Amino acid sequence: MFYPKSPFIKNQLVESQLFSRNPSGINTLLEWMCRTPSTTTYRINPLLSSITDFSAKLQAILSTKYKNTPKIFSINGIPEVICISKLDEVPKLPSKDLKEVMVDSSCGAAVLRGAHIFAPGVLSMQSGTKLGEMVNVFVDLEGKCKKGTSIVFESEQKVFIGTGEVKMQRYQLYGENIANHGIAIEMLSNISGVPSIGDLSSKDALLQNFPSIVCVRVLDPQPNELILDMCAAPGNKTTHIVELMGDTGTVIALDKTENKVDLIRQKIEINGIKSIKAFAFDSTKLLHESINDSKLDNPPFGPCKFDRILLDAPCSAIGNRPLLSSNITPKMLKSYPNVQKKLLRNAVGLLKKNGVLVYSTCSVTEDENEGMVKWVLEQFPEMILIEAVPIFGGPGIKEAGGLTEEQRHLVQRFGPTEYNRGVPVDSIGFFIAKFVKIS
Ligand code: SAM
Repeated sequence: MFYPKSPFIKNQLVESQLFSRNPSGINTLLEWMCRTPSTTTYRINPLLSSITDFSAKLQAILSTKYKNTPKIFSINGIPEVICISKLDEVPKLPSKDLKEVMVDSSCGAAVLRGAHIFAPGVLSMQSGTKLGEMVNVFVDLEGKCKKGTSIVFESEQKVFIGTGEVKMQRYQLYGENIANHGIAIEMLSNISGVPSIGDLSSKDALLQNFPSIVCVRVLDPQPNELILDMCAAPGNKTTHIVELMGDTGTVIALDKTENKVDLIRQKIEINGIKSIKAFAFDSTKLLHESINDSKLDNPPFGPCKFDRILLDAPCSAIGNRPLLSSNITPKMLKSYPNVQKKLLRNAVGLLKKNGVLVYSTCSVTEDENEGMVKWVLEQFPEMILIEAVPIFGGPGIKEAGGLTEEQRHLVQRFGPTEYNRGVPVDSIGFFIAKFVKIS
């Protein structure tokens, strides 16, 4: 299977900071980060749909598109998940007689995960390309192709990623009345083998990475509890929490960015959810010792209020695969643990005695993960680390962040398959730790 050269190879400093202790070795980890997760996962909303109904819908779509349909399977222990395996046959080379379309690297990554191409992602389309015509799609890894290019783009850093059918012409993409939304190219196949069926998310089911689903299962929300989701937008884990609680109790969902909180509000409306209260708020300033408001009408909040807290922290996000390009610098990497510590300090204060805190990131660095767990245990004697069950990922990295052997086996790290624990789901890089406040 082809994968582009790692975006990190050119930055030795970042590389040494990230991967010094990785058990699989730097090269294996870098290759893994550049490859596409082979499994697609949907989380079914049991309040509005069922696994049987959604599987039937999937089967119908897949069998219309492919002769040898990919396998649809479920996961023991997480009944709301449906997985789709990748296809056996994939195109490796562009067809000689087709015209070319170039896309940027974030669009390219989405295509490799099965997405169609939306208008804003198209960098170039050759003149004369007609509606309904088949095209070769390439990704511009260097970011040098100018938007609106009308000829073949020559570059050593362009990579063929698949073929698709044109749904919008040049004048719709680059003219005066340019389209900012809508499918420009409907993908028929891509080189990763992930079925190109686009995003079938609706109120019945959500396209979601497997470790994100595990993360809310680890939080284990119970009916009628009071739950805080500190960094909640766009609300994908918040809605999962609500579904597991049967829309009872109260879930307070916060995010720093007002526009992003609107995304949570849209989900509340579309799904007819009663139990979420969403606010735009900076969660590093959430705890006010002097407040004693039991109604929790508005943030900030007083101490010891919540039964469970999810801190799905802002992070370097370099577990998001495939990572086709990255401009991350050592300085940027260093900035995340500072904000993560501030958020964790607030979380500990806001938690009730015996309350549960789940900390997660979609990063693979030690500082943001094992290092943060160690920091919590050192700073807050009232917090103990417990096993992040149900366990699907591997243990933390040996000796990373100063965790003991016992402690590293309590957390979950999703990484290259050789240290995942026997689950047939190849997904993104992710980390989950679970704490209880004992006093
Ligand atoms: N939990 C979300 C989900 O599953 O849909 C994803 C959360 S994303 C990893 C992290 C979020 O933290 C971003 O939406 C970002 O806007 C938000 N964020 C960053 N700094 C924050 C802060 N100080 N307070 C609250 N939210 C913050």
